Amino acid sequence: VRRNPGEPEFHQAVREVLESIAPVIERRPEYADWKLIERICEPERQIIFRVPWEDDRGEVHINRGFRVEFNSALGPYKGGLRFHPSVYLGVVKFLAFEQIFKNSLTGLPIGAGKGGSDFDPKGRSAREVMRFCQSFMTELYRHIGEYTDVPAGDIGVGQREIGYLFGQFKRITNRYESGVITGKGLEYGGARVRAEATGYGCVYFVEEMLNARGTSLDGKRVVVSGSGNVAIHSIEKAQALGGVTVACSDSTGYVLDEKGIDLGLLRQVKEVERAGLSVYAERRGSDAVFVPGRTVWEVPCQVALPSATQNEIGDDDAARLVRSGCVAVGEGANMPTTPGGIRVFQEAGIAFGPGKAANAGGVATSALEMQQNAARDSWTFEHSEARLHEIMRDMHDRCLTTADAYGKPGDYVAGANIAGFTRVADAMLSLGLI
Ligand code: NDP
Repeated sequence: VRRNPGEPEFHQAVREVLESIAPVIERRPEYADWKLIERICEPERQIIFRVPWEDDRGEVHINRGFRVEFNSALGPYKGGLRFHPSVYLGVVKFLAFEQIFKNSLTGLPIGAGKGGSDFDPKGRSAREVMRFCQSFMTELYRHIGEYTDVPAGDIGVGQREIGYLFGQFKRITNRYESGVITGKGLEYGGARVRAEATGYGCVYFVEEMLNARGTSLDGKRVVVSGSGNVAIHSIEKAQALGGVTVACSDSTGYVLDEKGIDLGLLRQVKEVERAGLSVYAERRGSDAVFVPGRTVWEVPCQVALPSATQNEIGDDDAARLVRSGCVAVGEGANMPTTPGGIRVFQEAGIAFGPGKAANAGGVATSALEMQQNAARDSWTFEHSEARLHEIMRDMHDRCLTTADAYGKPGDYVAGANIAGFTRVADAMLSLGLI
């Protein structure tokens, strides 16, 4: 805390991992001898930069850009960029730290990083967003590359922004280096299923957890928070597996739609018109109700898929969910549940899939995009989705067997943290004191 003052999200993420891995340190004294814990908590490199840009009226704005290159023991730094006014160093560090264990858990050759800016894309024209992305990349380009650091999207950074970022990278460097960024459009080196991967993967993970308990998503009442990339694709896959998603949210409130969310309308409102959920409710007619400014976790459900942002489920929300009959939670977002909330879920014995495992399908598919770029190849949707499904199943099983091996049966938090930690820690030991 003294070395990293004023970064509560980072402290929270570190504490959760350290609590889980205590039994590993007892079994493996060489980790302590080589100061693995101290090393793994210190980013390899942190970059903070000025991002000046001009809005449509000619007014000048200055934002702050970040890239935290946390760990490259397993491969090039890999992790998304977030554009949201709440972004500061502590948020980027927590996300990059989580990314170490998540990327390790996928079993793929990717290190960990994260970045972004306090730029707020809300209400900005496409041209303003483009100018911002160009200015952001004008600094970032010197730090990234296929073999060094490979950014992607996150909150506020979707395919449109990735296109502007990649365009500017290509222009500055005069290199068509497709593998420098992932989440690209299909026409210029993107991979099929990347857009869908985080949401689909999260639902596959939940289905595995339910199957392990002799049940499934079929017929279950689902509530999803957010209505961005992860939320929309979670709703799509949950519906495909027979779940009924009755509510989702955005930063203005939530919409309750007992007949099941109309995915086509949701996409039109959120992705095409970039409007708020009240517009969805107006168009959907009497079937849907928009509830402004309240948390979606007041809606009873059997399966909860938090897919908006960090610390959105507190202990009270968790207790209410448990009381309402919730049996499974899949974290599509990063760290959406507070430590108190996790405790409530685990004490109630419900299946709790932490983000490091449940939302790792996104970064895993990004690694597949890098593979395709390196091979100048492009896989079919079916092949890509089958790979994603297999990766999620493997991760689920790895979490369970690791949790068992450490005397914590059914504890996916311990399983994900320990399995993620040991792979990267062993790589760090092999690479010497670096
Ligand atoms: P998007 O920007 O596409 O969507 C985010 C959604 O959450 C929006 O509906 C947004 O509301 C809402 N939201 C964001 N911040 C807040 C907030 N502070 N309060 C209330 N609502 C909020 O982002 P993604 O779907 O890509 O990301 C969602 C989560 O998933 C994040 O935690 C991200 O780190 C995580 N994640 C994403 C991956 C990916 O592949 N995209 C991979 C792994 C994890 P509004 O529509 O009003 O803006």
